[in-house]
Amino acid sequence: MKKLLAANWKMYKTRAEAEATARDMVRLIAPSLPADREVLVFPPFTAIEAVGLAFAGQARFGVGAQNFWPRKEGAYTGEIAPRMLADLGCAWVLVGHSERRWVLGEEDGLLAEKVAFALAEGFKVCLCIGEKIEERRAGRVEEIIDGQLAAGLSAAGDIADGALAVAYEPVWAIGTGEVAGPADILHAHAHTRTRLGTILGEKGLRTPILYGGSVKPENASEILSLDNVNGVLVGGASLTGESFSRIALA
Ligand code: PEP
Repeated sequence: MKKLLAANWKMYKTRAEAEATARDMVRLIAPSLPADREVLVFPPFTAIEAVGLAFAGQARFGVGAQNFWPRKEGAYTGEIAPRMLADLGCAWVLVGHSERRWVLGEEDGLLAEKVAFALAEGFKVCLCIGEKIEERRAGRVEEIIDGQLAAGLSAAGDIADGALAVAYEPVWAIGTGEVAGPADILHAHAHTRTRLGTILGEKGLRTPILYGGSVKPENASEILSLDNVNGVLVGGASLTGESFSRIALA
């Protein structure tokens, strides 16, 4: 399966900063990117267009949105509809990132609606799942993966091939410098793969599963070589072209 190297820029970068980083990424990554890899950047809304323009002509560089509201249009002050993102050249959306679940209060019902709506609008969805530290300590990793996958996919109809990726991101490893060890990643990804197979059949076996949580140039190669790790979702270490290029080419 091909590998997806995804960058989540969170609430960082003005348009000019985003464009400069995107151009650095193309310059440093494109000439050496292995044929089975794709780069995907989730900038803040305001920089999506600038990043898309910097990626113009690069078939294996894509742009996604970190958030959206699951309606076509309407009286939703402050929100952005998927069709507005499509208009900016956006093909992917993130759903269920831990910062949206646990900092911004998005719950399973809304996340299920977002997954289903984005898929129905023709977007590719990266659904983020992962346990908190107290859930891990209580031996509930598998239960949390099962619950978040089942809930997140509960309203989605038939999912087109290639339209879904799952990112396993243990909450305690995001932005903390703590990385899950290889054994923990292998176990969580194998469990996620089995569960996706149960829910989606054959398609679940072809759904990319990304690891996220303090991925750095120093640990990317080992993580990317693990079974059932079909890419990475990177926050902090994706903010410069130099750092992210070493991950994308690891
Ligand atoms: C993320 O934002 O999805 C993430 C994994 O962040 P970091 O790489 O900084 O832990």
